Amino acid sequence: MSIRRILALGLVLSLSVAAQDRGAQPVPKADDRLKTDVLLIVAHPDDETGVSAYLAQLMDQGKRVAAVYLTHGEAGHNNMGRERGPSLGAAREMELRHAMAQLGVQNVWFLDGKDTPSQDVLQSLANWRHGTNLEEVVRMVRITRPSVIITWLPAIFIGENHGDHQAAGVLAMEAFDSAGDPSVFPAQVAQPRKVNETLLEGLAPWQPQKMYFFSDASDDKQFKGKGPEYPTTAVSPTRHLPYWRVAMDEFRFHLTQYRSYIDKLGSMNEEQLTKLAGADQDGWSGPVQLIFGKSLVPCTPTGDVFEGIKPGLLAFVRPSAPSPMQHSGISIEIGGPWHFYENFRRAHNLTEMAKAETPEISVAAGTTLQLPVILRNDGGEPAEITLTATMPDGWALKNTLPRYRLEPGDVYPLEIEVTTAGKKSDQISEIACRAEAAGREVGTVKLRVRLAGGGLPQ
Ligand SMILES: [Zn+2]
Repeated sequence: MSIRRILALGLVLSLSVAAQDRGAQPVPKADDRLKTDVLLIVAHPDDETGVSAYLAQLMDQGKRVAAVYLTHGEAGHNNMGRERGPSLGAAREMELRHAMAQLGVQNVWFLDGKDTPSQDVLQSLANWRHGTNLEEVVRMVRITRPSVIITWLPAIFIGENHGDHQAAGVLAMEAFDSAGDPSVFPAQVAQPRKVNETLLEGLAPWQPQKMYFFSDASDDKQFKGKGPEYPTTAVSPTRHLPYWRVAMDEFRFHLTQYRSYIDKLGSMNEEQLTKLAGADQDGWSGPVQLIFGKSLVPCTPTGDVFEGIKPGLLAFVRPSAPSPMQHSGISIEIGGPWHFYENFRRAHNLTEMAKAETPEISVAAGTTLQLPVILRNDGGEPAEITLTATMPDGWALKNTLPRYRLEPGDVYPLEIEVTTAGKKSDQISEIACRAEAAGREVGTVKLRVRLAGGGLPQ
């Protein structure tokens, strides 16, 4: 029988069944294969490395884990072949899918963000077309229906050097606070109108319950006590290996990025691997430190990730609007991504979220550092503002700082450019910009800086 005749017969059969059975029809359900308990939302193929030992533990507990990658990591390097740009992205997607299959994570999606080699979260969000990408992340949350989202910490720390990581955290947080709202991206939750519908998606709004972050800040001790910590030395009952070793085996697929290190691992015996894993700088057998982000169910910040999780759907509660930011008289504050994060934390009720007490960054020694500041005049009279900058020996302002005249209501963001010393150092230096009006200090902005041997541009 030809395929066409089989299909035609199937149609006749289903029509006759429908005609005979006049009982209640079952209502179509969301596809259960897509459902997850934990959704990892990260930027690049290999970003899972910081938490993969914990993901393996979750799967041993019978939890479902899925992952969304915002970019293909096409700005990385290639130690395996000549492919670069989008072709490298394809190679890295392949590596990631092999790695996650080894870990046991089957459901992995890649979205359309572009790998942005910069530390500035705002450049990443712009390059990804923020709104378009948010629509995709919200869709993935509604499709996968996670109880918990784990993502990068959206904040700037020395060592957290990638704007894309931070942007993944920003989008994950925005999706957490909006995927349950049926008025957000309503075509996704609209009823499909025809059999071959391509525009209206038939999803239900979904409110995740908890959100956790992780970070690759150089000083990871600062996050101790800010969230649950999961040792990786226990032996997995299904894999008969310590969890750190499961994570290491997952990592070995990322050859384009870490070929020589992975080759070194390949040349070691078990005893040598265990020794390396315990060493401070490799740290494979150290605990996975999560940072508490947000919970809509009662729980303690350092309690287990699944503490307080309720079965089923959680009602959407619109996050309360932050009180307006207060400004008075003449003021100076830090601008750029740091300023964005102040607004972001307030908008998403994250005022308790980990952040550097004094803004900080790591840049390559001998390069230009930009200190963004915002001058404001919220008073009733025009004002003249004088800026002075202090910095370590060997650093220099690129241009002398002019005086500024601000009319009432003026808000002026500017960048102060500083040439840093040419020698890298683990010491952390501080630069400060002091503003004076009418001979009186109105404020000082400080930035802690580590001069590294390289790294992404600011
Ligand atoms: Zn990354």
